[in-house]
Amino acid sequence: MEELKRKLTAIQQNIEKAARKSGRSAQDVTLLAVTKTVDIATAQQAYELGIRDFGENRTQELNHKQAAIPDARWHMIGRLQSNKLKDIVGRVHLIHSMDSWHMAEEIDKRARHLQTESAVLLEVNISGEEQKAGIQPADVDGILDSLGQLPSLRLYGFMTMAPLSSVGEESRPIFAELYNLREKLKNKHFANVELKYLSMGMSQDYEVAVEEGANIVRIGSALFN
Ligand SMILES: *Cc1c(COP(=O)(O)O)cnc(C)c1O
Repeated sequence: MEELKRKLTAIQQNIEKAARKSGRSAQDVTLLAVTKTVDIATAQQAYELGIRDFGENRTQELNHKQAAIPDARWHMIGRLQSNKLKDIVGRVHLIHSMDSWHMAEEIDKRARHLQTESAVLLEVNISGEEQKAGIQPADVDGILDSLGQLPSLRLYGFMTMAPLSSVGEESRPIFAELYNLREKLKNKHFANVELKYLSMGMSQDYEVAVEEGANIVRIGSALFN
């Protein structure tokens, strides 16, 4: 617990510093603790230290931890599968990893069935790596334009992943490009769209991400390892 507290304090200070560099304050940035490699007891300690936003990349593990810590906000950050959406939609605070029009339709259908709304981010493949999930930047405008057809889905912004090998400064151009994409689109009117979140930056590069405008950072190993 002491060690976790020390790491959390250091990360919060780094976020504060980076936020100030981009003319913001730490309150403008949500620290999302990625608990995929730790057990419920450790996630519980993070909750006791004040963390309220948690991310998981697998449905079953998310459901499991959410049942144990129901008062936190749970975020789905991993690859989505159609057959598991029923365990995600209507349960999580925000889905970060919507990466196709097909998935948007499936999430909307499920949310409509539950008579609720599903809050999502669109995952954008900025780095251009072929094996990476996400919409190509050139296709984002078209998708946003079509979301008016999906009344039970609300798009709140974008998520991206830098290449896994990318650390610190190497990720900066990727984060800057996602920020610019949002700037370009945010004053256009799209139904069901409000581009308020940029989910970018992980343990290796969250400070750079915040400097480039991230307001959600997804941190696992820097907190828990
Ligand atoms: C695991 C994971 C993270 C956290 O990665 P760390 O390098 O451990 O901070 C962030 N985002 C996604 C989508 C992940 O799968």
